[in-house]
Order: sequence, then C-alpha cells, then structure tokens
Amino acid sequence: MFDALSERLEQAWTKLRGQDKISESNVKDALREVRRALLEADVNLQIVKDFVAEVEQKALGAEVVQGVRPDQQFIEVVYNELVQVMGEANVPLAEAPSKPTIVLMAGLQGTGKTTASAKLALHLRKEERTTLLVATDVYRPAAIDQLVALGKQINIPVFELGTSADPVEIARQGVEKARADGFDVVIVDTAGRLQIDQEMMGELARIKETIQPHETLLVVDAMTGQEAANLTRTFHDQIGITGAILTKLDGDTRGGAALSVRRISGQPIKFVGVGEKVDALQPFYPDRMASRILGMGDVLTLVEKAREEVDMAEAEKMQEKILSAKFDFTDFLKQTRLLKNMGSLGGIMKLIPGMGKLSSEQLEQGETQLKKAEAMIGSMTVQERKDPDILSSSPSRRRRVAKGSGYGEREVSELVTNFQRMRTMMQQMGQGNFPGMGGMPGM
Ligand code: GDP
Repeated sequence: MFDALSERLEQAWTKLRGQDKISESNVKDALREVRRALLEADVNLQIVKDFVAEVEQKALGAEVVQGVRPDQQFIEVVYNELVQVMGEANVPLAEAPSKPTIVLMAGLQGTGKTTASAKLALHLRKEERTTLLVATDVYRPAAIDQLVALGKQINIPVFELGTSADPVEIARQGVEKARADGFDVVIVDTAGRLQIDQEMMGELARIKETIQPHETLLVVDAMTGQEAANLTRTFHDQIGITGAILTKLDGDTRGGAALSVRRISGQPIKFVGVGEKVDALQPFYPDRMASRILGMGDVLTLVEKAREEVDMAEAEKMQEKILSAKFDFTDFLKQTRLLKNMGSLGGIMKLIPGMGKLSSEQLEQGETQLKKAEAMIGSMTVQERKDPDILSSSPSRRRRVAKGSGYGEREVSELVTNFQRMRTMMQQMGQGNFPGMGGMPGM
C-alpha cells in the first residue's frame, strides 16, 4: 500500500543525508519531494500546502540535537505531522448512554457501505455488543438481499420492509425495533448513488433527522484519492458526519484519502476495510497509517535510533557532569526517569550482562528504593537538589524533606549519604579507579 508515496518520501530524506543540520536551503528539496509525493498520492492540494508548511516550520524550528542526523530529524517531523493530521489516536465507535447506539451509514454506491455495515456488526459482537442491521436501500436491485445474506452469514438479524416501503419509515421502524428488543447497537445501511445527488442527500438528511443517530459514518473508498476530499466536504456540510470508515485499503490504493478525510471534516476515521470478507475490518490507528505511508518498519527503527542518539548525547553531557562532580539530585531524577521510560528496572537489568542474575526480590527492592528516592527528591528545594551537602549540615532541612515526602528523617539522611558516596565513587571511576559497586540503588 502507498508504495509510490513512500518511495518519494524516501527520496526526500536521502537528500538530507550527509548534511549536518536542517536549514532553509537544504530542507527545500526534501519539502518539494514531500509535496510532490502527496500530490501524486491524490491528497487534496490545500491539505498538501498546509501540511508542507507545517512540516517546514517544525523542521526548521526543530532543535538541532547533537548526534542526530538531519534526515532522521526530518523523518520524525514528517511522521509526527502525519500522525497528527490523521488524528493521533484511535477513536472507538460511540456508545450511547442508553440503548441502542444508533449508527447511520452514508456514502456513495459501491464504496463498500453494505459490506462495512455487516463487518461492523461482527466487530461489535467481539465486544459483546448485540446489533440489529437495518436495510433501507430500496433502489439498488438486490441491495436488501445482499444485507440479508450477509446477516445470515454472520448470524446477525436484519430488519427490512421490502423495496416498496419508504426508506425514512424503514429506518424509523428499524430503530424502534432495536429499542424494543434491547439491542445494544442498530446500524442503518442507506442507499448510495454513483454520484452525489440532491435527492439522495435530501433522503439521507430526513433519515438522520428522524432517527437522530449517535454516529453518522461516511464510508469512503480509499481508491478514490483526490475525490475523497470533495466527497467528505459535501457529506459533512450537508449531513454532518461523526466519523468515517475507509474501505479497500487492501487494494492498490494511495494515501490521499486517509489524509483528506480528517483534515476536511475534523472527524476521525474509525475503521478501515481491508478485504471483501466480513471479518476484514480493523480499527484505524493514525500512527500505523503514518508508518505505512512512510514505508515505515525501516523508518520507525530510524526514528527510534534517532531517539537513542538523543539519549546518547544526553548521556555524554551527564558523563561530563559526573567527571566534574557536578552530578546532582536533579540529574539523578532525570536518570531514573530515563530508566523508567525504558521499562521496568527488571527488564533493563536483564539486558545488562551479569545483572540478569539478580533475584526478583532484589529487583523489587531496587524499584522500591528508586520510588522512595524520587519522592524525597521531589520534596527538596532546587537549591538542595543542586547541592546535597547543605542537607547533610541541616537537620531542619532534612526534617522538612522527610515530612514532605512521607518518609522518615533517617531515610532522608541515608539518601543524602548514599548519594554523596556514589558521587565520590563515580568520580573515582571517571579517573580510572573502579571501587566496588554499591550505594545508590539502580546506579
Ligand atoms: P455499497 O454499494 O457501498 O453498499 O458497497 P458494497 O458493500 O456492495 O461493496 C461493493 C464492493 O466492494 C463489493 O464487491 C465488496 O465485496 C467490495 N468491498 C467492500 N469493502 C471492501 C474492502 O475493504 N476491500 C475490498 N477489496 N473490497 C471491498
């Protein structure tokens, strides 16, 4: 999926490779490639313009981090921006405070609306929510039969009144039946046309007005590219959508539609269709989509590596501090947070040769110690964190810290003593002497 787009973007940042920082002149080429890539992927022109402008601003504003290559930094900016455009997090289907949650399906004919209705019902069953499907497409030959057949296949009931009833009336009665029978969700499938026409919009608006849905989902065929932007605008302006389902992402599609829908409607894509089978529906994850657009796998590792390198730069700074005995409680806190970001202490220890042998009891003890230390440091003033020595000479300061953190005075004294001992030890290590480890937990 999105092959062309990822190739273009790949080219964009190879141009940045070998440069030593992102500047207005060297980012220009990369931005031009991003722009071309998105246009070729049929992303709406205005969205491309906005996107590129934002990426440029952020790329130029990005703090140049020592050890991070500008192309890596640029990738991260493009990736983050893509994720943001597409909505950042997955937004699940709404759940009404009282049953049933009413879902209205809208979209053009052939986009996969009927299939998506059945897929959604099946998905909801996995969440232990019961669904009634309602067939209102009285125009397309066999549309009702199609939904009935799909319903049978997955054992989900379908409400219909044949092809001579009024669609608005079918919808109304369908929702009523769902309420009476205690269904959790009712999904109303509606008629699609080959193009947007006023008559169809009018009917859809009347159905919406009548059943007052909690969700109005626009079903968008991912293969329509540029058209997805206009389609979204029309439906959102005239009907008002609360989300979208992007279908046929398994095909030879481009990324354009995914970018356009959220940007134009401000509403999230909630699911993606990835095949003709009824179980081929997945929740939409903006970060995964961004990864796919960028031909990630590789890129994600690159971004991760870039982050690691940021940590390396940080570590170098820290090392300098240690050697010059400027390491203080603030640095200590930073280090423990860094450790925490990387996972549990136990998990990290396993990666260090020799340390994996620590018993789980010892590890647990280490984690408790760290938490304790963190609480006590949290109760210190900036000055005390900078200069732990003032704590060793002032019982009243230690008392205050003890009170603030909920630990005893003796524990605060211990923390300070251990910290000082550790600092001395680290200094000695920096000078090439390696006294036995001990003292500070997790260090
Ligand atoms: P509707 O007219 O919008 O209700 O569209 P249908 O649900 O009848 O689907 C139209 C065609 O697209 C059918 O042949 C479906 O099997 C197919 N289709 C629907 N969703 C997907 C999808 O996610 N991937 C693929 N490959 N085909 C799909």
